[in-house]
Amino acid sequence: MKKCTNCSEWIKEEDKYCFHCGVKVEQTLKPEGINRKKNDIHPYEVVTVLFLILSFPIGLLIMWIFRPFSRNTRWIISVILIGISLLGLLLIILWTSSPGYLY
Ligand SMILES: [Zn+2]
Repeated sequence: MKKCTNCSEWIKEEDKYCFHCGVKVEQTLKPEGINRKKNDIHPYEVVTVLFLILSFPIGLLIMWIFRPFSRNTRWIISVILIGISLLGLLLIILWTSSPGYLY
């Protein structure tokens, strides 16, 4: 077992391509990792970002199934989005339960 230099997921020693992110894995893992070009965007990244904007629960689901980002990035996006939605829900509850709110 070895770690993917791009997404830090565990992959087989003999694998040439990462099962999780599709990035080519070098036989000798260099600390500088893979130099990804700016125009070299993974198609899953585009789909995931699109769904995260349009409908974040679906976007989160796609993100965790297809794993276009590293584990840390996935956690950060999930925590931020869930945090925002919970905060919004809390504000709605506080607002609707306040004495000044008229039905
Ligand atoms: Zn990978």
